[in-house]
Amino acid sequence: MEDNLDLTVKWNGKEFDVSYISPSDCVGALKELIFDVTGVRPERQKLLNLKYEGKMPHDELKLSDLNLKKGFKIMMMGSLEKDIEIASTQPEDLPEVIDDLDFDDVKLDNHEIHFAKVKRRIKEYQINILSQPREGKKLLVLDIDYTLFDHRSVAETGNELMRPYLHEFLTDAYHNYDIVIWSATNMKWIEEKMRLLGVASHPDYRIAFYLDIHAMISVHTPKYGLTQIKPLAVIWGKFPCYTPENTIMFDDIRRNFMMNPRNGLRIRPFRKAHTNRATDHELLKLMKYLRKLARYDDLTEFNHQKWEKYVKRHDENRKRKRDDPRDPDSRRDEDKSSSGDGAEEDAGAEEAGPSGDVTECTTP
Ligand SMILES: [Mg+2]
Repeated sequence: MEDNLDLTVKWNGKEFDVSYISPSDCVGALKELIFDVTGVRPERQKLLNLKYEGKMPHDELKLSDLNLKKGFKIMMMGSLEKDIEIASTQPEDLPEVIDDLDFDDVKLDNHEIHFAKVKRRIKEYQINILSQPREGKKLLVLDIDYTLFDHRSVAETGNELMRPYLHEFLTDAYHNYDIVIWSATNMKWIEEKMRLLGVASHPDYRIAFYLDIHAMISVHTPKYGLTQIKPLAVIWGKFPCYTPENTIMFDDIRRNFMMNPRNGLRIRPFRKAHTNRATDHELLKLMKYLRKLARYDDLTEFNHQKWEKYVKRHDENRKRKRDDPRDPDSRRDEDKSSSGDGAEEDAGAEEAGPSGDVTECTTP
């Protein structure tokens, strides 16, 4: 494996570690990592002692061309604009239309830079494992706010704001999935909310671990500006038993899975708990969808945007079977529909059956 350069940036009288960067990374990637730790945007950074042939190196230049020694200290000048600070915090209430854009509208370039950030999270972010990964289980990653819980309404107890069927949903999902909670807040709030909702201590399921805002990365896109997202590769890098094929993530904000559109399912936000509690059946329906997915090896073959269609089809088939249990076509029909447009373009999921791959679960 390539050596890390373990660079330090000195700025504003403080030192910042830029520890996960290698000679094969380019100057642009370095600037993004500096932005990550300091909040100073790449175009605002003046890296004073970083020179190539007597001039400031351009962004595409490899760090190996600069002959930097391990532990090199970079002196930086650059201003932190107020608006950057604001943009760095997760916007909670973007209008729905913005959250619901197709990914075609959001071009994520600079992949190399984002991967460098992900690598850093894999290396540096500490996970407190609450329940060990179980062999052969898939992975369900859940957001909290507006996904499991209406965090904006006022109430006396957590239960009033809890999304209906939360515990039934988690209990059912736990049969086939290890469950991870990932929220764009700090760990102490996540722990507090999970305690309040009774998720942390429920007898029928366990949460594998929590991830907070520090496991997220910042990306810049022309459409959203600067935003924080949840790259699943942070989990996959830390736990080899979880992969793109066996992972699904629910979040009410679509851009959170910008780096993993095939693994994300945008859940309808649960807001105004007092008004909507009686009619919100989202988790009950998603429970059925997860059961269906659990039979397949590769979840990325499904188009999760169409999840409601699959559930509806499943319900119709069950009803038909119930009405006429001797109908020989009913069983076949269900099989067809569960793989037909379930797996997009069929994609070979038809005979997948129960997951045969036993994934070796290792902890970091
Ligand atoms: Mg949310």
